[in-house]
Amino acid sequence: MSPPESGWFEVRDIPNAGRGVIARCDVPAGTLMLQSGPPAFHVVFKLYGKETCAYCFHWDRGRTLPIRDHTTAKVFCSESCRAGWAQEQGKAGVDAWLCLADFLRARGRGTNADEEMGDGARPQPGEIETAWQEADRQAKILRVSRESKTPQSKLDRKATLAIMRKIGEAIDSDVLSYLLCGLLYRYKDPTRWADEVLSLAMDDEPYKTQKDLESNCNSYLQLVSVLPLELLPLITPELCRTIVRADNHNAFGIRSGGEDSEEYMGYGVYPSASYFNHSCAPNLKKQRVGRQWQFTAGLDISLGDQCCISYLGGDERDMNFEDRQRRLKEAWGFDCGCGRCTDERPG
Ligand SMILES: [Zn+2]
Ligand SMILES: [Zn+2]
Repeated sequence: MSPPESGWFEVRDIPNAGRGVIARCDVPAGTLMLQSGPPAFHVVFKLYGKETCAYCFHWDRGRTLPIRDHTTAKVFCSESCRAGWAQEQGKAGVDAWLCLADFLRARGRGTNADEEMGDGARPQPGEIETAWQEADRQAKILRVSRESKTPQSKLDRKATLAIMRKIGEAIDSDVLSYLLCGLLYRYKDPTRWADEVLSLAMDDEPYKTQKDLESNCNSYLQLVSVLPLELLPLITPELCRTIVRADNHNAFGIRSGGEDSEEYMGYGVYPSASYFNHSCAPNLKKQRVGRQWQFTAGLDISLGDQCCISYLGGDERDMNFEDRQRRLKEAWGFDCGCGRCTDERPG
């Protein structure tokens, strides 16, 4: 992706630290340095789906929002949010959400990913490859049954039904929504997809557990079995894998209220905000304003300084050196060498 243009900063290679955002002049505290734009793709968790505006992510302390669209199972805080959402999705997008909502209604309430995620080791690249190959083998059978104009043979029909039965056993509406959101983003604008999403830092072991991997493969097959035919060629293992590989290093949590809020409603990938590195004493503040993130100078920043956010969402303030290092290593896989960590490093 071409880095965001700004009079305040530029994106530059930093020795031994990849890319970073560097102030190109002195920046007074309080300066708004970047507005991220809406997420490329995101998910609002099922638990919050009936209380969170599908367009602007407004959440009113758990109250039900005034506009409810029963056909797509989305809620909105106003007519203008509903209209904005419909316009952004386009006809194919709205149709796809309708299909997904019908599927979820027919299959009952779906499982809650968090409850069932379980423990266990992170699947390795080889296991991931094998699981997706098997899913794609089954997807081919489903595709033929959906696209073929002639009736299936008895044997093929049996194979299709067996797959449908098996994949219908576990439903994870959060994974389904997230994948569909990413698919539609790719569908609407392949050029923007290539420019923004494919250049993000990717995680090659993105699934937290075996169950998580299975849930993603299963959701892929469910999407192949229910989405409108015009989207079918687009729904590939590669695309579903990319959508998830992109989130670990690039997603921002969507929370109600301030950064410290307890209500974790979902997350989204914001490509223009993916250039900021982490510091345990960040000089930027980030705040979600509706669908966008605003990045503001938290203190005076000097020409040539790196502009950093905290990936720890404010928790870093009360965490000691060891706890910060451990959390950053676990979640993002790096040893933090920020100024504060250099100062506080024991020995
Ligand atoms: Zn809204
Ligand atoms: Zn640090």
